[in-house]
Amino acid sequence: MKKVLVLEDESAIRSFVVINLRRSGYEPIEASSGEEALKLLEQNEDVGVALLDVMLPDIDGFEVCRRIRASGSRMGIIMLTALSQEMDKVTGLMTGADDYVTKPFSPSELIARVDALYRRLGAADDSSDDEIESGPFVLNKRNRTLDKNGERVKLTQTEYSLIKLFMENPGRALSREDILENVWGADYNGELKIVDVNIRRLRMKVEDTPTVPVYITTIWGYGYKWGS
Ligand code: CA
Repeated sequence: MKKVLVLEDESAIRSFVVINLRRSGYEPIEASSGEEALKLLEQNEDVGVALLDVMLPDIDGFEVCRRIRASGSRMGIIMLTALSQEMDKVTGLMTGADDYVTKPFSPSELIARVDALYRRLGAADDSSDDEIESGPFVLNKRNRTLDKNGERVKLTQTEYSLIKLFMENPGRALSREDILENVWGADYNGELKIVDVNIRRLRMKVEDTPTVPVYITTIWGYGYKWGS
C-alpha cells in the first residue's frame, strides 16, 4: 500500500487527514512532532509522500523538509500551511517541498494533491528506466534513439522496435514468431521472412562486422538473441 506520512501536531486535524487518506486507499503514518516524523521516516523507507505541517512544537515543518531532502530522499512533500502564512508557501517550496495545501482544506482537495504527486513520482521513476545500456549501445525509449559508442545510429521505426525488443530481453532466445508478433503485431499476416530481412538490415547498422554478428546472434532453426 502507498504510505503517506502525516506530520501534524493538532490531533483533530491529523485524525481528519488520516481518515481521509485511509478512505482513499493510502496507509497513513502519524507523527505529532518534527523529530518523531524524521524517526518514522527512517523506519519506513517506503513512504512515498509526506504531509508536513509548518507550525510544530519542536522543529518546524520547513526544517523537517530540509532534513528529508538533505538525506537524499526524493519522496513527495506537501506542506500544510495556514492561510495567514503566505510566505510559508515560498519558503516551503524553497526548502524542497513539491506542493502546499492551505488550511483549511477540504479532504477532496488534499487527496487530489496526494494522488497527483504520487502520479508524478511514478512518472519520474519510469524516466529512470528510459534508457537501456548494453555494451557500446544506449537505447533511449523516450526519444526512440539508439547510440553506439556515443554516436547516433539511424533506425527506421521497425528497426527501433526490433532493437528495443532485443535490448529488453538480453540473452533470451526469441523465436521469429515472437519477434513478428512483438514488432509487427499479432494481426500481421505477412511472412516470417520479413523478420530476417529486417534483422539483416539492422545488423548492417549495429554490428562491427555484419557478416560475423556478435550483438544480434542467430539461433539456427529458431530465431535470434541479443548477445552471444
Ligand atoms: Ca501546527
